[in-house]
Amino acid sequence: MMSIIKDFLLQLTLMVIPIFIYYTFITEWVKSSKNRNVIMSILWGISILFCMSFPVDFGQNARIELRIIPLLLGTLYGGVWPGFFLSALIILYRLYFGINLGFYNTVFVLVFSLPVILFFQKTFVSSKIDKRVKIAVGLAFYYCLIGLTIFGILRGFSLDYLKVQIVHLIFAVVVTLFFTILTESIRVIHQLRLEMENSEKLRVISELTSVFAHEIRNPMQVTRGFLQLLNEPDLPSKKKEYIQLSIEELDRANEIINDFLTFGKPTVNHLERINVGNQLQRVVNIIQGYSLNHNVAITTDFYEDCWIYANPQKLNQSLINILKNAVESMPNGGMVWIRCTPTDDGNIKISIKDQGIGMTKEQIARLGSPFYSLKESGTGLGMMVSYQIVRSFKGKIQVNSAKGMGTEFIILLPRIT
Ligand code: ADP
Ligand code: MG
Repeated sequence: MMSIIKDFLLQLTLMVIPIFIYYTFITEWVKSSKNRNVIMSILWGISILFCMSFPVDFGQNARIELRIIPLLLGTLYGGVWPGFFLSALIILYRLYFGINLGFYNTVFVLVFSLPVILFFQKTFVSSKIDKRVKIAVGLAFYYCLIGLTIFGILRGFSLDYLKVQIVHLIFAVVVTLFFTILTESIRVIHQLRLEMENSEKLRVISELTSVFAHEIRNPMQVTRGFLQLLNEPDLPSKKKEYIQLSIEELDRANEIINDFLTFGKPTVNHLERINVGNQLQRVVNIIQGYSLNHNVAITTDFYEDCWIYANPQKLNQSLINILKNAVESMPNGGMVWIRCTPTDDGNIKISIKDQGIGMTKEQIARLGSPFYSLKESGTGLGMMVSYQIVRSFKGKIQVNSAKGMGTEFIILLPRIT
């Protein structure tokens, strides 16, 4: 009995591992969803091999194992190709144990169950959680019934085998239920995390928008003034200059709109070569109106040749959060310095320094934890998102600050050439 429980627990463990590896590491580090799918299939494949190698032994050659769970979950979440891949893997591995009744059993069960699983896969993907659970459990039940029937046809029904098969069925159904719910909850948590990043971004945008409208209105009014002047009959000498200035103003408005739009666009998850100086300039453009509104002047000093590998929109989001905090830390106005330079140890160093209220050691230590905010209408999500984003680019954030003395945020990101 003990060894049965032990075997059973081992099977369970072998099945959790792929789920956890996938959601803790792979979704974080692998950006393309195609690659993620491939890795997921491989993880489920490994889980199947382990399940088949360490079955639960009931004595008298009666063995059960839960390969159905990885097969089922892998196919339902992955789709057609993972389904075929996992089935082929089962057959090949079974082949390795020799061609006998058990082998035919395996093949027949797959022939009768895979098409059904695939048939329900489309419904599964587009269903809500409770329906997904029902579909998965139903399919596990069906698989076990098919297994039981084919087993009976090939070797004759006997009470002992029937007992083992029924234990298998109960195991499989219960474990499927458990794992589908587990996977779904992890997915929900994961989804929420992504959405929080997005909603925080939208919040920042909505805060910046009122200032943004102002930013656009200024060039428009200036241009309008020039156009009016041009309409006067006796001003031919400065005509060229006015037109030139108008064009510059309009270009500037256009640039601001562009920067804002790219910032607001939903993020696509890819990394690219980025010139940090250019990127910082965009961020400064976006925040400029906001900072002027707070009587804060921004000084920049960008070293030309700073390249990193990152996602531009996410980098923007992270920088804007930090810059916005810097501006907000100076209720009576002041200066913000932004610099970027390469370091000797192969990083790009972005420094954002303010003359604001500063932070105590304890406050610095709490930075980046969710909902930590000292502001009346703060969310305490900005820093958390920034830390998350910088970490996802394999960078780090350091903070130097003293109460009343201002704060310097230093972002270090690996330099590429
Ligand atoms: P929020 O800005 O909504 O309060 P954040 O996560 O952006 O949330 O910041 C968390 C807290 O960290 C702020 O409430 C503030 O107290 C502190 N903080 C962040 N940046 C600075 C800064 N440059 N100077 C002083 N305090 C800061
Ligand atoms: Mg903030």
